[in-house]
Amino acid sequence: MRTEWAALAREVSSCRACAELALTRQRVVVGDPGPGWATALPDGDPGSGVSNSSGGSGDGPDPGSAAGQGLAAGRGVAAGPGSALGQGSAGWPATRLVFVGEAPGAQEDAAGRPFVGKAGQLLDQLLTDSGMARAEVGVVNVIKCRPPGNRRPSGDEIARCRPYLERQLELLRPRLIVALGLTAVAWFLGRRTTLAAARGVVHEVDGYRVIATYHPSAAIRFGPAGAPMAALREDLDFAARYPRRSLHMRLSTVDDTWAFGRRLASVLRAGDLVILSGPLGAGKTALAQGIGAGLGIAGEVTSPTFVIARVHRGGRVPLVHADAYRLGTVADPRAEVDDLDLDASLEESVTLVEWGEGMVEQLSEAYLEIRIDRHDDDSREVALVPHAGDWSTRLAPLC
Ligand code: SF4
Repeated sequence: MRTEWAALAREVSSCRACAELALTRQRVVVGDPGPGWATALPDGDPGSGVSNSSGGSGDGPDPGSAAGQGLAAGRGVAAGPGSALGQGSAGWPATRLVFVGEAPGAQEDAAGRPFVGKAGQLLDQLLTDSGMARAEVGVVNVIKCRPPGNRRPSGDEIARCRPYLERQLELLRPRLIVALGLTAVAWFLGRRTTLAAARGVVHEVDGYRVIATYHPSAAIRFGPAGAPMAALREDLDFAARYPRRSLHMRLSTVDDTWAFGRRLASVLRAGDLVILSGPLGAGKTALAQGIGAGLGIAGEVTSPTFVIARVHRGGRVPLVHADAYRLGTVADPRAEVDDLDLDASLEESVTLVEWGEGMVEQLSEAYLEIRIDRHDDDSREVALVPHAGDWSTRLAPLC
């Protein structure tokens, strides 16, 4: 993939499809693919820009080239037995988020990198405030060359550059795209959309999940107390918390479910909260028993339905196994959960809560959600959904 990104960057860097932009730009701003990918860029240039004097065919994206193939290839991820979803291809780090802006401004044009001017500095600050780092995210633009005078890109320019962004997204495989400003939002949602209507929803577009928010330059224009700044902050906070893509696997038998629980235990540690959901008979208890065995707990881990919570000791970490099934029928299940005092033992134990969805998430900002579904052929589909923390890194060896 690094090679493909580098090839695409070289192709974009020599593009002269938009005659006016090719004449007036200093550099083509390909974009930042994300962490650890600088080596993927042409000639090791961190911005991957080239001077305006560089050559080029003048033909724009070639229909036969990687970019010209557009969305046709590589979109989506196949879910096969035992396969992992949502990870980059081998050796290709999964990009947490991809931000899509409109076009390079004057400073970006000079530097050959996206979002390095005032708007970029604000974006960096807001990312930091939301607990993210610029180096962790991908940043690209709808068009790669600066429109003179910072005018809006024309529809033709956007259309000519479209295959490049399509191909970039295919390579980056973002789990969430943040469209910054109306041009980027319209690129995904159509020209009739408005920012006000598009905000506040996760849109499914061609298999991507997209949220819409203000461009940082709008936040600067309206000032620190303006509505765009507040909205941008809110949306970046949402993006920071947005779960990484789930990992899916198909398990053929109950024994496989137990064995997977045992393997999962190898990455669990004190302080972990695991929320287990799935219909009756899906295999939740088998998974819990496998986890117990993997933690080295000697006695059998049985369903705590009647006692609601049980503590198993004797392994390398205590396992608190709770069953919130009966709490789902009470008037205030969260108050009942509070009464269980699960937070008292959370730090020193692995806390596993069956039927806990919607009731125990407040116990920890970072938790692992596991959903098990049972198919007609008696196989189980297990989805691991990390919420914050370092779950994705820890789960990677299991996939
Ligand atoms: S904006 Fe895109 S399509 Fe137009 S010249 Fe630049 S790279 Fe080529």
